[in-house]
Amino acid sequence: MSSGILESIRVPADSRVKLLDRNAGQTFGLTREDVAAALPDLRTELADLQELLYAAGTHSVLVVLQGMDTSGKDGTIRNVMEPVNPIGVTVTPFKVPTKKELAHDFLWRVHRETPPLGMLGIFNRSHYEDVLIVRVHGLAPPAVWRKRYRHIVEFERVLTDSNTILLKFFLHISKAEQEERLLDREADVNKAWKLAVGDWKEREHWRDYIRAYEDALSETSTSHAPWHVIPADRKWLRDHVVSRAIIETLRPYRKGWTVKLEKIGESAKLELDAFRKGVR
Ligand code: AMP
Ligand code: MG
Repeated sequence: MSSGILESIRVPADSRVKLLDRNAGQTFGLTREDVAAALPDLRTELADLQELLYAAGTHSVLVVLQGMDTSGKDGTIRNVMEPVNPIGVTVTPFKVPTKKELAHDFLWRVHRETPPLGMLGIFNRSHYEDVLIVRVHGLAPPAVWRKRYRHIVEFERVLTDSNTILLKFFLHISKAEQEERLLDREADVNKAWKLAVGDWKEREHWRDYIRAYEDALSETSTSHAPWHVIPADRKWLRDHVVSRAIIETLRPYRKGWTVKLEKIGESAKLELDAFRKGVR
């Protein structure tokens, strides 16, 4: 992917996102075949980078996935993360908060799940629900959720100042594509377990969600924690773009991680030498 694609999906800091201006079905001129041809190298590179991240232990990576129902959050995780070693990955879904969680500030349950150094963490939904569904359904008054944009920006700053590399993806689907996917679930016995009447009910709030997403993305895309709007009507394109975005973000760290590993290796060798001399 040319850095042009990455640039065009990134939401610049201090800008307004208009989701209607972003085509959920766009392909950047790539075909399914192009994407399939690129896959082996991408898989290898992501696996390598994740191994280095894990072994060097100097950074963590947090991938935040948001999107409307059926936008493909689960599928993206399954496909994009396929090549990586499960030992270094955590996936955390955020559901309706429990009574205990609601008795704390909205970030309490989130901070506990952030990845430690060496780990790649994925959030399937996140603290952003607290300015999305909470706003759309009036679960908190505007005076409460409005302040959260600033809370989120500062919270994410704490993470990135602590060596977390933070990437946020909004899986952008069209309303028509959502309808198709919901109807598919009904028609396919293997997908019917995903059916939820709530999805149809939420769909009635589509415009409110779009507005809430536009505000959330505009208010919280920063240079340290940028949002990316992923055209997600085509699953193959979606997975490709998300993989590329992760790889291109991690690539600049490769050198530093390699150097760190060499140092770890050298000092381990010295220790081993000393040990052998000692026992002889
Ligand atoms: P799913 O992702 O389909 O398993 O659904 C999880 C549900 O939990 C979604 O409807 C979310 O909007 C909802 N949810 C997640 N976080 C929150 C939150 N902080 N407040 C209210 N609802 C939430
Ligand atoms: Mg759902």
